[in-house]
Formats: sequence, C-alpha cells, structure tokens
Amino acid sequence: MAEAPIRTRLAANWNQVCEQVAEAAQQAGRSRDDVHIVGVTKYVDAATTAMLVEAGCRSLGENRPQQLWDKAESIRSRDPIQWHLIGHLQRNKVRRTLRYHPLIHSIDSLRLLDAIAAAATDETESNSAAPIDVLLEVNVSGEEAKTGFDESELDSVINQLPRPGVNVLGLMAMAGWGTDPGEARRQFARTREIRDRLAKLCGLPLATLSMGMSNDFAAAIAEGATIVRIGSALYEGIDH
Ligand SMILES: *Cc1c(COP(=O)(O)O)cnc(C)c1O
Repeated sequence: MAEAPIRTRLAANWNQVCEQVAEAAQQAGRSRDDVHIVGVTKYVDAATTAMLVEAGCRSLGENRPQQLWDKAESIRSRDPIQWHLIGHLQRNKVRRTLRYHPLIHSIDSLRLLDAIAAAATDETESNSAAPIDVLLEVNVSGEEAKTGFDESELDSVINQLPRPGVNVLGLMAMAGWGTDPGEARRQFARTREIRDRLAKLCGLPLATLSMGMSNDFAAAIAEGATIVRIGSALYEGIDH
C-alpha cells in the first residue's frame, strides 16, 4: 500500500475511535476527558506508527520492550510521545526501558516491582532520576495463560506501598479470550471493585484503570476505565 492512502485511512480510523470513545463516555455519564486512549502499535512498523502520531495519537503502547525501545529511538515527533509498556517486562530489560519513561501497565510480580524501584532510585543511573509510573496487572479472567497477579496475591504487594522509585497509579486488566461482551463487562466491574478495596487498604487513590481493547472498550468505559488500549480498530482497511 502506498503511503498517502495509509495516512488518510489511519487518520480516519483514529478520528472514529476518538468519537466512539467519546460516545461510550457520554453513555456512561462520564466526561470524555476522563478516558485516555493509548494507540497500540505492536502490529505496525515505525513509519506507520509515526503516521498515527501525526493523526493525533500521542500515547503509544507496545507489548515488547525491544519494540518500544526501537520505536522510541526512531520516531521523531514535534509533540512529545508518552510511551506505554503493556506486555511482560523481563527484569534484565528494566534499566533500558526506563530511559523512555513509559507508564508500565504490566507489573506482574513483586520481583519486577523491586527491580524497577531499585533502578529508579539508583543515583549512578543518570537517566532515570524520577519515580516510574506503574500499574499492577490483575488476572481477572482466571485464565492460566494470562499474566498478572491473582487477586489473592495483591494484598501483600499493596502492603508495601507507598515506596520510593515507583508510583503505583492503579490496575490493568484484560478480559479473557473470546469472552462475550456481558462477561467482559463483569470482569471489568470486578477489576474496579478490587481497585476500590485495595485503595482503602493502602490509602493511595489507585485512580487509573487500564482496561478495554478494540472489541470491548465501551464495556470497560462503562465500568470506569480511565485508559483504553486500542490496536486493531486503528488499522482496519490497512495491510499490516
Ligand atoms: C494487543 C494488545 C491490546 C490491543 O488489542 P486490540 O484488540 O488489537 O485493540 C491491548 N492490550 C494489550 C495488553 C495488548 O497486548
């Protein structure tokens, strides 16, 4: 596909997703500004990702650290890009990842949280002086294959907060594969309830709920999502 039609189609898809998110917010009686869209770019190359930024999407999500690094290095934009790491982070990739100050959605072990806190408070590491914003990933679908903490594990993590080096802003969750919309919505509601309980326990607001993807973001917004992570809907009609 030539570049111009991709650019046009991406911009149209981006605008449509923005409208659908606004509509879902309105139907939920929420303000559009309370829901932030992360454009998930794991399916496309750096050139296409750059076009998405031009279309207006300034928050980009990658699920592999290496791809986040590569794109963060190669994409030059006049407007600052906020990176989001939404997939598993290996501990040996923490330091490199922190260079790009992403919001890390996918904290799935206490050891990973420890590694991030240690890297962020290491004064010999000049590039990561600020605390790192993170979310705890919770496995609400109960699927073996899914990553994230089981609910029962979260209390002991929360008991260690607040701690230097990391700002735990809230939770991230994914509905199970192939769940129908009703079941997805119940899982999102469950995530919000878990958040409410944990927030009381630790005294932090845990205001961020990252939940909802192309197929279920309206249900997630109805249940309080503050970040939706949208990939495939942005690339409809584009070969990738
Ligand atoms: C791929 C991915 C998304 C985007 O999913 P789509 O269905 O393509 O919108 C969202 N969150 C995570 C964690 C992902 O890996």
